[in-house]
Amino acid sequence: MASVQSKGKGLIFIISAPSGTGKTTLVKRVMEDVPGLRFSVSYTTRPPRAGEQEGEDYHFVSPAVFQEMVKRGEFLEWAEVLGSRYGTPRVDLKVLAAEGIDLILDIDTQGAKKVREKMESPVLIYLLPPSLEDLEDRLVKRDLDSPDRIKFRMANAQKDMKEARRYHYVIVNDRIEEAAEKLKAIILAERGRNRKQSILEKRRKKRNRNHGMVHRKNLRKIQLLGLYHPHDDRFLWDRR
Ligand code: ADP
Ligand code: 5GP
Repeated sequence: MASVQSKGKGLIFIISAPSGTGKTTLVKRVMEDVPGLRFSVSYTTRPPRAGEQEGEDYHFVSPAVFQEMVKRGEFLEWAEVLGSRYGTPRVDLKVLAAEGIDLILDIDTQGAKKVREKMESPVLIYLLPPSLEDLEDRLVKRDLDSPDRIKFRMANAQKDMKEARRYHYVIVNDRIEEAAEKLKAIILAERGRNRKQSILEKRRKKRNRNHGMVHRKNLRKIQLLGLYHPHDDRFLWDRR
């Protein structure tokens, strides 16, 4: 597929998956090809893994700092995941729209639920591993967790995947190139839908403005012609 040329305008894409499925790999790949996308950098109390950059992968903070941020209401949502805390900083959709940016949130299913309650229409995408065996294999090959930790992640994965049915889209991350094409297609389609809605909204506003001008300038004339009914504030052409 050709790269996605059109830019975004304040959409929120949420990607969830069991740890080790390939969210980070997939999101990084898609962001290289799609303009107008920004990754929302979460705050976490877990220590950085080898290769992770402060401010790029996460903001790594102590539990005390995280708690202060919770108290000050600095998070759009936060949750405890696999024994650590993770929080999404607040989002200003108007600023994003003005900049022509859409936001990608890599958050767990609890966080997705909270964002869905707070924001107007986030797009929810769930990423599945081809099988549980593949997931375990990826966690082992990633080589970041102890065998006990991998067992813990696998137990959580089975619970987590039940939530997939609440998402708008499901992508199976079998071959990474195919999964990336599917994610790009979703982003492009959702941008098209959003653009249609904003065009319709602009038209509606314009129609209302025109309607107001008729009202002010020609109301008396229109009323005399029997086209305006003052008793129920209605023009002949208004549909009920
Ligand atoms: P997550 O962010 O979901 O925890 P990662 O992006 O860290 O997962 O990926 C976990 C491991 O799986 C990494 O070693 C990554 O290189 C590998 N991986 C990701 N996608 C695929 C894929 N489609 N096929 C095989 N391995 C993959
Ligand atoms: P990891 O430690 O493997 O990077 O992430 C563990 C889990 O925490 C993943 O499921 C990831 O999506 C989730 N996560 C990362 N950031 C946030 C966040 O800000 N909020 C919530 N609720 N979950 C997050």
